[in-house]
Amino acid sequence: MPPTRSRATRSAVPEQLGFAGMPERLFVCTPSKLGAYADCPRRYRYSYVDRPSPPKGPPWAHNSLGASVHTALKNWFALAPERREPEALPTLLKATWVREGYRDVEQERVVYRRALDWLESYVATLDPEEEPLGVERVVATKTSVLALNGRADRIDSRGPEAVIVDYKTGRSGLSSDDARGSQALALYAYAAERVFRRPCRRVELHHLPTGTVAVHEHTEESLARQVRRAEETALDIMAAEKAVAAGADPDEQFPVNPGSLCGWCDFRKVCPAGAEAVAKEPWTAVEHLTT
Ligand code: SF4
Repeated sequence: MPPTRSRATRSAVPEQLGFAGMPERLFVCTPSKLGAYADCPRRYRYSYVDRPSPPKGPPWAHNSLGASVHTALKNWFALAPERREPEALPTLLKATWVREGYRDVEQERVVYRRALDWLESYVATLDPEEEPLGVERVVATKTSVLALNGRADRIDSRGPEAVIVDYKTGRSGLSSDDARGSQALALYAYAAERVFRRPCRRVELHHLPTGTVAVHEHTEESLARQVRRAEETALDIMAAEKAVAAGADPDEQFPVNPGSLCGWCDFRKVCPAGAEAVAKEPWTAVEHLTT
């Protein structure tokens, strides 16, 4: 988001504050909704403001792969501990496999096999007797600006603490910087701490293709910083929506943010900036798994 815009929209914030600096209403959001705006305000508008929403491009194979693996792991934890055996995985994965976006059946078959390998290696690292605090668990909390909710892939109980676990299936490995910088993980931790009434400072990215775990230990201050950033984003969004409702040009209030994400954007075909982007095939991001 261009800094000049951020300053301009934030200057409108006091106008929408009610008693004692509280906003007139809370901004209901998930981490992904906030992330969509931070990535590109125009993409946010196409997804959450324009009704009807503009038509999206075709489904992506990498999203199908991610959804399939996530659901298989969810269902793994739904099994009784004595049934959490690697032999259960092919049935789980087949039952939840999403077929959309692949180039052809042959590519889909190879990617399925890779996903099964990842799952087999991953569950070998898990203690079948260990029950997480939550699996695909919705955690929700409020701040003075946000009514926040989000679905965490897994929340573990480790001693007196809750730990946020997020599964990743993308190409590149992840570092502790990725775990530290993830606003979504920080917001899950902030909400989980309040829902479970126990400390939740540790966030982990579990990258299934490499079997690596990227970790960050938040502090109360670092979580508060991420919440403040999220609130600033929400105030920007509310200011833009309010301006549009008052007659401002929606294209100016929700500007494009052209960049490397455009090639992967669902709205590339309807967005004026998207026309410049190099188009990706729906299966481009899984092609490396078949070579
Ligand atoms: S194509 Fe690019 S600029 Fe347009 S909405 Fe998508 S991400 Fe934003």
